[in-house]
Amino acid sequence: MTATIETVKVFRVHGTTDDVTTCGLCERADLKSTVILIELDADGGDLDAHYYGSECGAKAAGWTQSRFRTALSAALAERQREESARQQRLREERSLREATAFASWATTTYGVTVTRRGDTVTNNDVFHALAKLDLTDRLGRRTNFSFFNEFISAVPAENR
Ligand SMILES: [Zn+2]
Repeated sequence: MTATIETVKVFRVHGTTDDVTTCGLCERADLKSTVILIELDADGGDLDAHYYGSECGAKAAGWTQSRFRTALSAALAERQREESARQQRLREERSLREATAFASWATTTYGVTVTRRGDTVTNNDVFHALAKLDLTDRLGRRTNFSFFNEFISAVPAENR
């Protein structure tokens, strides 16, 4: 008598990708995209990624199509939230870099001391310092816009 012990693999749905276009179960190629299933260890930790067409993904996981679709929707929403947060961080970093360069330019060009009023330096801190100079040009009193344009013209994009 032989006993066969089948190890049931446990997965979580991670999202989709169009980098892999061949189903890992039926081996159909030329798919538009595949679903990424991450195999989990006994403690729920991530093991390898597997790629399946959307029908085969449910079969591979041993789930109903309905459960699979629900898990996929949740995973895609989570990936979307992560991407939004990443974009937000990039915007904040860029904004800080720019304000720092603007402050440095204002100090070098006009000799003003930019005082930070929050956690990080902002363009408004620089405008505040420049406004104290009360400078005018042919159009009258210098505006925030004209100072900022002068900075943009003077400092190459890669330095701000
Ligand atoms: Zn397949």
